[in-house]
Amino acid sequence: MDKYQVRISVRNMVEFLLQSGDINQALGCSKALQQGTLIHRRLQAEAGSDYRSEVRLSYEVDFDDFIILIEGIADGIITGGELPLIDEIKSTSAPLDIIDENYSTVHWAQAKCYGWMYLYQTGAPMVTVRLTYCHSESNEVKRFSKSFSYDELKEFFFNLVEQYAVWIRMKIQHINDRNKSILCMPFPFPQYRLGQRRLAAEVYYSIRDGRSLFAQAPTGTGKTISVLFPSIKAMGQGMGEKIFYLTAKTLTRQAAEHAISIMSEKGLILRSITLTAKDKACFMDTTVCNPADCSYACGHYDRVNNAVFDILQRERIITREILLDYARKHHICPFEYSLDISLWTDCIICDYNHVFDPRVYLRRFFDPGGDYILLIDEAHNLAERARKMYSADLSKQSLMKYRKEWKQSAPDVYREFSAVNRWFINARKMFDKSYDAKVIDFPSELIVHVEKFTGALEKFVMESPLSIRNELLELFFACRAFLMSASFFDERFICYVIREGSDIRLRLLCADPSYLLQKACGKGRSAVFFSGTLQPLEFYKSILGGRAEDRTLCLTSPFPSENLCLMIAGNISTRYRNREDSYEKIAEYIKAAIEAKNGNYMVFFPSYEYMMNVYSIYVSSWPGDYTIVQHTDMNDVEREGFLDFFEDTPEKTMIAFVVMGGIFSEGIDLIGERLSGAVIVGVGLPQLSLERNLISQYYQSANGQGFEYAYMLPGLNRVMQAAGRVIRTSTDRGFVLLIDDRFLHRRYLDQYPAEWQHYHRVYNSRDVSCILHDFWNNAG
Ligand code: SF4
Repeated sequence: MDKYQVRISVRNMVEFLLQSGDINQALGCSKALQQGTLIHRRLQAEAGSDYRSEVRLSYEVDFDDFIILIEGIADGIITGGELPLIDEIKSTSAPLDIIDENYSTVHWAQAKCYGWMYLYQTGAPMVTVRLTYCHSESNEVKRFSKSFSYDELKEFFFNLVEQYAVWIRMKIQHINDRNKSILCMPFPFPQYRLGQRRLAAEVYYSIRDGRSLFAQAPTGTGKTISVLFPSIKAMGQGMGEKIFYLTAKTLTRQAAEHAISIMSEKGLILRSITLTAKDKACFMDTTVCNPADCSYACGHYDRVNNAVFDILQRERIITREILLDYARKHHICPFEYSLDISLWTDCIICDYNHVFDPRVYLRRFFDPGGDYILLIDEAHNLAERARKMYSADLSKQSLMKYRKEWKQSAPDVYREFSAVNRWFINARKMFDKSYDAKVIDFPSELIVHVEKFTGALEKFVMESPLSIRNELLELFFACRAFLMSASFFDERFICYVIREGSDIRLRLLCADPSYLLQKACGKGRSAVFFSGTLQPLEFYKSILGGRAEDRTLCLTSPFPSENLCLMIAGNISTRYRNREDSYEKIAEYIKAAIEAKNGNYMVFFPSYEYMMNVYSIYVSSWPGDYTIVQHTDMNDVEREGFLDFFEDTPEKTMIAFVVMGGIFSEGIDLIGERLSGAVIVGVGLPQLSLERNLISQYYQSANGQGFEYAYMLPGLNRVMQAAGRVIRTSTDRGFVLLIDDRFLHRRYLDQYPAEWQHYHRVYNSRDVSCILHDFWNNAG
C-alpha cells in the first residue's frame, strides 16, 4: 500500500509549531499582500546579479508509515561570498526600532529550515541565514544575520519535523479509522427515498470525475444526507481530502450536523466542525483582536495547540456550542481556535463566505486550493449573495465625519482624504437633479487615491482610542472592500455614481458573478450545487459558473402529487399600476381559500405596502377572523414567536400575512396541520431598481435574456420557495393558490416543476371554494 503523504510549506509548519504569544492583528489592508510582493521584488532586484531570487527548496522525510514533504521558496540565495547566504524578506508595518534580532522565532525558524534544505542539496558545510525587514511605508531596511553549520541546522530541522510528525501520526490514525468506518458504513436509513439514490449516485460520479453538479432536489428527497453520504464514501476511497458543506443559513448548518450525527450513530468515524463568522464567535462586545483589548487574544498562541489537541481527542462533531466551551476552558480566541481545528477535521460546515467571499475566505485552504469537495446547499441563494460579496461602494458622507480631526492630528490621512473628496466633488457636477445615477467608466485615478487613503487610515485607526475606533473601523473596512472589488473589476462589473441628496456614492456592481464563482470552485475537486428550487437548471448553471461538461439533475417531488392542490387565478393583475383594483378581489380569494377547512394559512405578498392594503380590506370585511401580520425588521426571537402561532391542532383558522422573499418564505418547516395552504400574490419579481435594471441590461447584451435573468427567474424562485412551505412530508396535504395573470403565460408555464402540471385554473372565489371543498373532503 502507498504510504500516506503530507505536503506542508515551511512557513505553515513553523507557524503551527512555534507561533507563541498574543493575537495582535494589524488590520491587514487589502494592499498589504500586494505591497509585500512589491517590496520583495524591489529588494530582490536591487540585490545584484549574485542574488538568486525565489529559489524553490524541498525536503522529504520518510517515516515508517508516512512521508512528509516540506517545501518552500527562499526569497534569495547569494553564493558569491565566503559562505552561501539565505535571505528571508519580511515586509512589516511595525516600526523598525522595535524590531531586534530576537523579534520573531518563527521568522528565524523559516530561514533556518531553508538553510538546512540548501545545505542538504549542495553538501556545503555552513550557511549564513539573514532576515531582512523592510518597512512597508518608509522602505527603510533592517537586517540580521547568523551562520550555522550543517549539523546545527540538521538537528534544528529534524527536531521540528519530529514535533510535526506527532500531529501527522494522530491524523493518519484518524484517517485509517475513518476510512475503515466509511467502508462498512451502510446508507443510514432502511431504504432510499424516491430520487435519493439517483442524487447520491450523481454526487458520487461528479466527485469521481472532478466535475460540478447542479441538482434540483425537492423537499422530501432528503438532500442533505443524499449529498453527504456519497461525498463521505468518495472521501473514504481517496477522492477528496476534505468536505466543505456550505450554507446560507444557520438552520441548514444544523441539518448537516444532524446528518453527520445520524451516520455516526451507524458507525461513521468522522470529524466535523461548524465555523461561525468572527463577530458571532467572538466573546467580546467589540471585536478588536489585540491583547490590550481582549484577554483571549493575550497568550492565545501559547495555549492554542494544547486546546486543539484536547478537543480532537474528545470530540468528533464540533458544533458552535462545543467549540465555545473548549475555547472558554483554555481561555483562547474561539474564532482563531476554530480555524486551527478545521485543519484536522474531515468536514467543515460553514457559510458561503468562507469559500467565496474575497474578504474572509479561508486562505489556509484556498490559497492555492486542494482536493476538496464543495457541497453548496440552497444554491439558489448563491448568485445574489455572490453579487453582494464582490460588489462594493464608497460614499462621500462616510468619509466626511472625521475630516476635522484628521486635519488637526493626522495630516497624512487628511491629505489622502482631500484627494478622494475632490473626486466626489467633481462627480457631483455630473448631476442636475438631487436624486439621479449615471454609469461611468472605471475610475482608475480615484482607486489610487483610495488605496493611499486606506493605508494612511489603517495607521490612524490603530492609534485611535477604542471609543472611536469602531466607527473608523467601519470606514476602513468599507474602503478595503471597495479596493477588493476594484481589483476584480472587468467587463462583468458596472461602475455607477449615484447622487442621493447631498451625498454622492460610487458603486462597483458585480452584475455577473459566474466567473468569480467558477474560479473559487476551481480551487476544489468538485462542487455540488443543490437546492429544492434550482429550476431552470440551465439558468442556475449559467449564473453560478457551470461549465459545459458539468452535470445537471432535476428530480421530481417524492410526495404524492395529489396531496397538493394547485390553483391559478389568472384574472387578476398584480402589476404596480393595477394593484389598487386588485385588493378586494384578493381579499375574497383569501376568504374563500381559508374557509374550506379549519387550519393555518399563509398569504405571501410582493411588498409590505401591498400586504397592508389587502390586510386592511380583509379585516374590515371579516373583522372576526384571526389574523397575524409580519412586521418589518423582525428579529430572530420575534420570528420564532410568529411561528409559534402555527399550532399543530388549530382550534380556529388563522391567516398569516407575510412578505414574499422575506424571513417566512424559506427555511421554515411547518409540518402537518401547522400549515394547510398558501396564497401567493404576484410573480415575486424583485423590486424594480436601478441596479436590477443594470443587471438586466448586462444579461440582455450578454445572452438576450435580460428580463428573465434579472427579474423573472429570481422572482419565480421566490414563488416556488413560498409554495414549498406547504407540503413538507409525504403525509402533508394542502393547497397553493397563485394569483396573477402572468402565472398562465407560456414563459412561466414552461418553467413549472412536474408536480405543478396538474393545476386548476380558477376565475373567481366560488371556484376556489368548490375545488377546495372537494380536495379536503377527498382526504385519504
Ligand atoms: S475573542 Fe474576539 S476580540 Fe478576542 S481575539 Fe477573538 S475575535 Fe478578537
